Amino acid sequence: MVAPEPPRLRRSVSQLTSFSQCSEAYRLQKVAKAPQRPAAWYAMGRAAHKAIEDYENSGRSQTAPELVEVFNEAYDAEINADLLKWPDWDSWLTGGRKGGEQDVADRRVIGAYQVEQYIEYALENAAVWRVIASEVEFEIEIGGVITTGFMDQIRQHVDGSLEVADPKGGSTVPGSGVQLAVYGRAVEEHMGVRPTRACFIKLARPATTRGKAKPTTELHHDLSQWPDEMLDRMFRDFDKAERQGLYLPNPTEDCHRTCGVAQYCSIPLKGHMESAAQFINIRSREDYLANLKEVA
Ligand code: SF4
Repeated sequence: MVAPEPPRLRRSVSQLTSFSQCSEAYRLQKVAKAPQRPAAWYAMGRAAHKAIEDYENSGRSQTAPELVEVFNEAYDAEINADLLKWPDWDSWLTGGRKGGEQDVADRRVIGAYQVEQYIEYALENAAVWRVIASEVEFEIEIGGVITTGFMDQIRQHVDGSLEVADPKGGSTVPGSGVQLAVYGRAVEEHMGVRPTRACFIKLARPATTRGKAKPTTELHHDLSQWPDEMLDRMFRDFDKAERQGLYLPNPTEDCHRTCGVAQYCSIPLKGHMESAAQFINIRSREDYLANLKEVA
């Protein structure tokens, strides 16, 4: 008898990148669904994306104060929802020694500055490119794996060429262009043209006591370095590893400051909790459901 085909699961580029960074953290977050400590950087990134998307979708008709208001509303809503679940500021990740409450206040200022500065940057480049679509949902097949996601920006340059772009609000941007390469492939599937340009937009940072303000900049990636076979292989390998329950910790000295599930990591690191044992054997959806039944 021929064994039935395993069900095809939907994957995303953010899953692939998080799996590549630390597949143990991926397992705890997505498979075992362990509680994840909050961090204001998530709210800041999503709120800035929302404000920039609103700005571009409105035909750039909003003023800076209006856009800051959009950012603040989205940011406060996310922070307040997290605070209901995590009222103790000591639980919040900040990436450093700063307290959670201070970090939340600081990132509200940084995010507002970033969206204001985005307006300046977009207007300065108005004669060079325009955004023709933002937050475009896609579903494509890569290496036989169904891959879904949202493309942040598709731009058209004056010469007609297309560019995919993604604003990043953190102090670092991804070293790899895999996310942009997937967007490029999605654009080709939807519009019939493969973009020749791609960039991460590193959003501005305000001046601090430690240094001067930093402007909005672009970090370009060459999509010709991402042939289809390379992406196909990456998604196939990711899909295969997950189906086989293969997850490995990738510890760094900053884990306890940056990883929201460090307390449940399968290797004992700073902040490790006894209750980590409840998640250690959950390596598939079946394990997760069986564990739920046991707990009930
Ligand atoms: S603590 Fe470090 S090694 Fe463990 S899951 Fe988190 S990122 Fe991975």
